[in-house]
Amino acid sequence: MDLPPGIAYFLNQLSLLFLPLGSHLSLTSLACALVIAVAFVAYGRWRRRRRVRLRTIVRALFPRRILLSPSNFADLGFLFYNLFLSGLLFSWTVVSYQFLTNGIMSGLAAAFGPVAPTTLPAFVARSVITVMLFLAYELGYWLNHYLSHRVPFLWEFHRVHHTATVLTPVTNFRVHPVYTFVFVNILAIATATANGIGNYMFGETAYQYAFSDTNIILVIFIHTYVHLQHTELWIPFSGALGRVFMSPAHHQVHHSTNPAHFDKNMGSCLALWDWMFGTLYVPAKEPEKLSFGVEPDNAAVHTLTGAYIDPFYRAAALVRGALQRQAAVPSLRDAPKT
Ligand SMILES: [Zn+2]
Ligand SMILES: [Zn+2]
Repeated sequence: MDLPPGIAYFLNQLSLLFLPLGSHLSLTSLACALVIAVAFVAYGRWRRRRRVRLRTIVRALFPRRILLSPSNFADLGFLFYNLFLSGLLFSWTVVSYQFLTNGIMSGLAAAFGPVAPTTLPAFVARSVITVMLFLAYELGYWLNHYLSHRVPFLWEFHRVHHTATVLTPVTNFRVHPVYTFVFVNILAIATATANGIGNYMFGETAYQYAFSDTNIILVIFIHTYVHLQHTELWIPFSGALGRVFMSPAHHQVHHSTNPAHFDKNMGSCLALWDWMFGTLYVPAKEPEKLSFGVEPDNAAVHTLTGAYIDPFYRAAALVRGALQRQAAVPSLRDAPKT
């Protein structure tokens, strides 16, 4: 049956979002998150000697306060934009992953000489490349996120994610296109560097283990706790585990309006880079009272113009302010000679 092109595109985008195992919102990963969430809530009630009933669990997981909040509706709007429009409007990467990989390999070969192809079994080279690419993804994620918090111009675009007043797995899509643009390009540089070094090391092209082009280690994390980071279920990792892995509670702290939590926990699946660079906040075992949203009382942040257009005005005002300040400082060349 021939479908109109618009409908065919719509269905194709939907199937690409939900069906591949490597998708960031695959049905399998959502199902896994749901099973873990149900088990977590049921265990918590059982431990406190409360009755474990399906109705109370469903109510705990899907409270009306979250489902009906304007923030949640805005998140669904962002999902719609990411799913159906962003691919039509832009090509996101200006940095070519393959070009950069080849450049790194030939640079290393020029500096240290060519390397003979490895005699190690293929699975060893592939496993090492898989780990290297995953760590590079995490480092690129951390770096982009760190810059988005610390560079005022970039913050104006990232703060859109932090205007969410409730957290659901769809909040992951609440990102401004400028943030996405910087993110995918930093990611391309980080992963191409790791790929170039890895391929040079083994003297041949070794491919990572992946599901639909997504690194298999990342897929495992997406199927365990990544979705739960954007929920309000307090699932903390503490001690050594809390220094290596970014638990759901770690990321909830990242969204907190408490100044003690600002600019902490920038990682995606791992807390490792936060630990190394001094931006880690390991959450307490007992739930911390958190509230979310940088402008909780401003309804405009959940509208189309508030989320997509206003950040451009705010960023432009920052640039204008900086230029005016620079113009106000007399340059040394203009200073009277004495
Ligand atoms: Zn952030
Ligand atoms: Zn978040």
